[in-house]
Amino acid sequence: MSYHSTLKRLIIKILRFTMEIAIPKENKALENRVAATPETVKKFLSLGAKIKIEKGAGIKSNILDSDFENAGAKIVSDTEELIGNADIVLKVNTISNIGAGADNIDIYKKGTNLIGFLRPMQEKENIKRISEKGINAFSMELIPRISRAQSMDALSSQSNLAGYKAVINAVNILAKATPMMMTAAGTIAPAKVLVLGAGVAGLQAIATAKRLGAVVSAFDVRSATREQVESLGGKFIEVSETSNNNTPNEDSKGYAKTMSQEYQKKQREVLHGIIKSQNIVISTALIPGKEAPELITSEMVKDMQNGSIIIDLAAEAGGNCKLTKMDHEKVIEGVKIFGPSNLPSEVSQDSSNLYSKNLLNFVSLMIKDKNINIDFQDEILKTSCVCYEGKLNEY
Ligand code: NAD
Repeated sequence: MSYHSTLKRLIIKILRFTMEIAIPKENKALENRVAATPETVKKFLSLGAKIKIEKGAGIKSNILDSDFENAGAKIVSDTEELIGNADIVLKVNTISNIGAGADNIDIYKKGTNLIGFLRPMQEKENIKRISEKGINAFSMELIPRISRAQSMDALSSQSNLAGYKAVINAVNILAKATPMMMTAAGTIAPAKVLVLGAGVAGLQAIATAKRLGAVVSAFDVRSATREQVESLGGKFIEVSETSNNNTPNEDSKGYAKTMSQEYQKKQREVLHGIIKSQNIVISTALIPGKEAPELITSEMVKDMQNGSIIIDLAAEAGGNCKLTKMDHEKVIEGVKIFGPSNLPSEVSQDSSNLYSKNLLNFVSLMIKDKNINIDFQDEILKTSCVCYEGKLNEY
């Protein structure tokens, strides 16, 4: 090789673009999660990226700046320096209107790839603002639920923890023991737990309540969930299938359908009968992109036992209980109703860990030969993209 070509290759190597990935501190209230861990930092470095993390970003997930530094990341105090040079910004929450720190949209450079829970269905105006700024945005909620994308499915990883934490929180405030106990002074009956919606969060709620010794019943419109509920030791509550105008209760993708009026009436009658004897109700029923179905009426709440608890995970989508108020506790005739919007944040060490791995697997799809190379032939990248080069995508 001649001297000139060696020199040329050397210069190209020096000038070669090193992509920068930035992980800011989350500003949203009640948010303890962070979008990277020392483990994912090491993996990103091996993919050829430079990693910058905002000072203190991991503290609420029990990750110290020194842990990130030891993994090879650079800690940055100035958010403008962090975000302004980044090619990829990994966040938990979208860029809000708070306007401070990483939520100040003006500090993002054109062409930055923003990845996080961007709430595309709920925050259309915000997505438009992000698009107009020239930021390319990919939303973790839109990752298709196909087998190749399982390791990137952040909705599932976070819902699983939410189902667990909902039961733990309810048990913690219930003025009653959960398992059956036989003592010399008498027998304590096990707590009764009802789970509405047996998807990811619901199934974990059933498993957790069973492990704590409760008697668990569950209901879902999709009859396919019966087997899963029963395999976890729960009792599946049957609402006559034939009352949905004789049509199947799920669509071709396996999601629940909106049920007929007749079915909903029957469902309420069945639930009203069962809910009276329950100590804890965990509700998780939702069809993606729709308002949460109202399963627990005010009359049902009035008929519940004094001291019983409802944890309504669907609060953000309007709630499964008529009386739910998001992020508030309500007490109606002795029944405590909670509508937490962010339970994964309450187990931030694990939720950050799983979410960061989801992000790593997703971002790996867009890195080829140490460079960003977004191939929209890839169904996962195409489906999750909300805007690119100033154009909004349909989703
Ligand atoms: P999922 O899609 O896996 O499960 C939802 C289940 O509800 C499905 O099995 C579906 O068949 C069922 N369903 C739909 N309509 C129904 C009806 N009318 N009656 C009974 N069941 C019905 O979703 P998921 O990931 O388990 O999440 C469940 C809910 O929890 C969603 O509302 C999600 O936004 C919420 N969530 C809340 C938190 C939080 O901290 N509050 C965290 C994660 C998820």
